Amino acid sequence: MECAPQITLALAGNPNAGKTTVFNALTGARQHVGNYPGVTVDKKEGTSTCRGQEVRIVDLPGTYSLTAYSLEEVVARNYLIGERPDVVVNVVDAANLERNLYLTVQLLELGVPLVICLNMVDVAEQRGMKVDAEKLAQLLDTPVIPTVGRTGKGMDELLAAGVELARRGPKWRPLKISYGSDVDQGIAELKAILEGNQPRRGLISARWLALKALEHDSEVLGQVERDSELGQRLMPVVDRITEHIRSTLDDDPESVIADYRYGFITAMARQAVSWEREVRMDFSDQVDKVLTNRLFGPLFLLAVLYAVYQFVFWASEGPVEWLQGFFSWLAAGVEGALPPGPLTSLLVSGVIDGVGGVLGFVPLIMFMFFAIAIMEDSGYMARVAYLMDRVLRAFGLHGNSVIALIVGGGISGGCAVPGIMATRTLKDPKARLATILVVPFMNCGAKLPVYSVLIGAFFVKSQAAVLFALTILSWALALLAAKFLRWAVLPGGQAPFVMELPPYRTPTLKGLLIHTWERTWQYAKKAGTLILGVSVLMWALMSYPGLPADEQAAWEQRVQAAANQEAKAALQNQMAGDALANSFAGRVGRAITLATDPLGFDWRTNVALVGGFAAKEVIVSTLGTAYSLGAVEEDDVSLRQRLRASPDWNPLKAVALMIFVMIYAPCVATVVMTAKETGSWRWAAFSLAYNTVLAYLMTLLIYQSGRFLGLG
Ligand code: GDP
Ligand code: MG
Repeated sequence: MECAPQITLALAGNPNAGKTTVFNALTGARQHVGNYPGVTVDKKEGTSTCRGQEVRIVDLPGTYSLTAYSLEEVVARNYLIGERPDVVVNVVDAANLERNLYLTVQLLELGVPLVICLNMVDVAEQRGMKVDAEKLAQLLDTPVIPTVGRTGKGMDELLAAGVELARRGPKWRPLKISYGSDVDQGIAELKAILEGNQPRRGLISARWLALKALEHDSEVLGQVERDSELGQRLMPVVDRITEHIRSTLDDDPESVIADYRYGFITAMARQAVSWEREVRMDFSDQVDKVLTNRLFGPLFLLAVLYAVYQFVFWASEGPVEWLQGFFSWLAAGVEGALPPGPLTSLLVSGVIDGVGGVLGFVPLIMFMFFAIAIMEDSGYMARVAYLMDRVLRAFGLHGNSVIALIVGGGISGGCAVPGIMATRTLKDPKARLATILVVPFMNCGAKLPVYSVLIGAFFVKSQAAVLFALTILSWALALLAAKFLRWAVLPGGQAPFVMELPPYRTPTLKGLLIHTWERTWQYAKKAGTLILGVSVLMWALMSYPGLPADEQAAWEQRVQAAANQEAKAALQNQMAGDALANSFAGRVGRAITLATDPLGFDWRTNVALVGGFAAKEVIVSTLGTAYSLGAVEEDDVSLRQRLRASPDWNPLKAVALMIFVMIYAPCVATVVMTAKETGSWRWAAFSLAYNTVLAYLMTLLIYQSGRFLGLG
């Protein structure tokens, strides 16, 4: 009599991977055949011993996947979920590694404790293929044992690895793959609904169920529909997400998911498999040989970025001018139609200028997002991430951080709000947090107008060079800031993680338009809500309380007495300047000059920067108002001329201001998004403080060294 077995190993694998052979080699004659309950699928069981430990071994039906497409798949899956074997031994045919790993990835996604039996290594070697088992083990984070089932090679090691893992009492740890932003967002949404519901799911994670629901797994959907309340909430969302994916990616969610799994596998195989002989490669592999080449890849990337710049500025020039013209026309119209007074001033300076300032840049942002959508939808962005991975890792980030940084304004013009949302593809929580915190350093679309005014005023001859330098500086800062964060605030190693390389696809126009619209809307939404509110508030703070009555009267007398029209206008401007200095905003601006003096900022700049805390778009319009000294008329060109002519300004001060604007506190919308995506207001507050302190120190350093060198 044998005592009751304590450890159960289940053999899973594709048909013909050699499961039965391995099973026989492990159990010898000690086996019997039964049935899985209720179905006519053979269930082979046997026993073996390893270092005195009795082991029960179950041979599962051969399957290619774990989605409920066939009876075998349902049986295998239900056994894994229902019986929970201590360890699953995944028998993999090394000679057909990539196809076999498809099941492996699904086992990992389910989260079962896994040992990989890398079988048929003899066949693989005959074909000139060498699989690096250690590398594979490292990438998959599971033991990998090379075996030859027919000769029994590796069987002892396999059994020992299984027993050792089982003795550790492993937890189920589902692998999370990114399936691209559309599917990832869908999963997050379904997961939230499933988590709200409290069925007895045991070890099955809500994320896995969400994934299966999107794969239209008949079993999972059937279960959901049986729970009518949950079904009523979940099914419409599943349908909506499916429709969204079909229209953006022109494919079913299940094929998109499969593509990303294969992308994950391809990337893994690139690292773990070497060939003695050249083998035929498919189209994506051939293209990748060039585009991810260490020398040619970066050159191609630079060429792509250059083309993106050219395209975005070329395409948006007309619409931007047209929109800005429209808002000037609107402002002039309102001014002409209404009598001068607080209401007119509110409408023109507060509402039209504030909102128009943002909407005026929408075309630029939109074309930038369109270019980014092409890079993402075609699969090229994944290659950019792959190329950048080594560099970014050195700074504690991850290849995929590059997408978030580019969307956030990495090639100038973007928006940190969708940039932070794009960090969802990052699985390492610390790398993700570090990315979220450095995305605001990028030169988003709201900072561009500030640069444009200052560069136009002081660096007319080298506009492109200065903007390029600012872009490089923002990347350098972001990387160093990330390195510092990973060292001081978020220490810890990085898990080896496989970069997914999904196959190239031709983007669909509909998909591009939807993706462009989703992100542009995030940006434009600010105009109608946040920026409208802040503009009106800033307008009020800059208009009230005005001058004391006696001073006002004295000024008016002087204006009356002026000799000619020109003198009158000059006096009026001076009066408005006094009024602004006396306004609430002016008082705040003056109160903090003590702190901002060493940075070269005067009180007017301070007023603009305080407004920019809410949204950086406000900086230019506020500066405009402050420097036109109250005159309602204002536009970029005249602000440039005024700054250039002002004795208070010089190129060094312009540089100091641009750098401060680049780094200091992210706008309110970004702060809110940071809190939402990190799940904590503390990180949002940290981001505000970290960036502002860093901005202060950097600007101080640059301005004071500039002065020391006699510039400015
Ligand atoms: P199953 O469908 O996964 O149960 O696969 P089998 O165990 O029935 O094996 C399929 C075929 O592959 C059989 O002819 C085995 O003899 C053969 N086979 C299994 N393992 C190996 C191996 O490691 N090397 C070689 N050369 N053949 C193997
Ligand atoms: Mg078999």
